[in-house]
Amino acid sequence: MIPLDMFGSESLAADLLQQVRWRDGVECPRCRSDRTVKNGSYGHFQRYLCKDCDCTFNDKTGTIFAHSKIALRKWLFSIYAFLRFNTSIRQLQTEIDVTYETIHRHVECFVTALDAPHLDLVGPVEIDEVYVTAGKKARDRERESRSRGLSTRGRGSYQSDKPPVFILVERGTGDRYVVPAKSADESTVRLLLADREEESLTVYTDGFRAYDPLDEDDEITREYVVHSDGEYADDEVHVNTCESQGRRSDPWLSPHRGVSKDKLTPYVPAFQLRRELFRKPGKEALKHAIRATL
Ligand SMILES: [Zn+2]
Repeated sequence: MIPLDMFGSESLAADLLQQVRWRDGVECPRCRSDRTVKNGSYGHFQRYLCKDCDCTFNDKTGTIFAHSKIALRKWLFSIYAFLRFNTSIRQLQTEIDVTYETIHRHVECFVTALDAPHLDLVGPVEIDEVYVTAGKKARDRERESRSRGLSTRGRGSYQSDKPPVFILVERGTGDRYVVPAKSADESTVRLLLADREEESLTVYTDGFRAYDPLDEDDEITREYVVHSDGEYADDEVHVNTCESQGRRSDPWLSPHRGVSKDKLTPYVPAFQLRRELFRKPGKEALKHAIRATL
């Protein structure tokens, strides 16, 4: 259900922000004191006075929504449509009658505010990478098939406008992490896997050579499939969960033509957020999205 009322009324949008922002009580953004009192209003937004440091602030102060020229309800609509329906910025421009540049700046501000995923891996873990074509219009996209195994075919690099995006899946919990990287090399792989709960970790990979050094690591048990040898998933040894996740992330980026590789990093956590929102009712999804930026 789309929370239409929030997008039609600035005061309802303001109420929603207030609810999400102060869910643990009002706190002064300057000195973190909770000794605050209501102090008039700032447009549709509640204003407060801090009794410890004497500063005034409102519901938007210190958030990405502060000092915005567009109404909060339009911004929330953009975020909602962007996450929920994968609406392009070009399309949003016609929906809410705000210039392309303005919406672009606001959506970018939103995705930049999202936290990078925090990994605390619990094994066994599947790890795999996909290469997202960045900075190209959709029709120019290469449609090459993903070659696997030890060859370099189909593997991209940050320099060649196909930055790698690592996908990690915990087999036990089903938790997935989507992490963009500058290169798909040994040190990146080690860095990703180092963020784990216990010392030893079982890892399923394919035959890509960046994973080979894991064989020498005493704390890591690596099992792998070599796709180019026509090997099929061998019981537990596969990266199929990663692959189905990877197939979903590339089409998702395609409406957002011309996202340059430098801007890609923040867009990928947005993809992960979209997945978290998938089954939430409209208003809950919107609250979750706001909370993710605070
Ligand atoms: Zn204060």
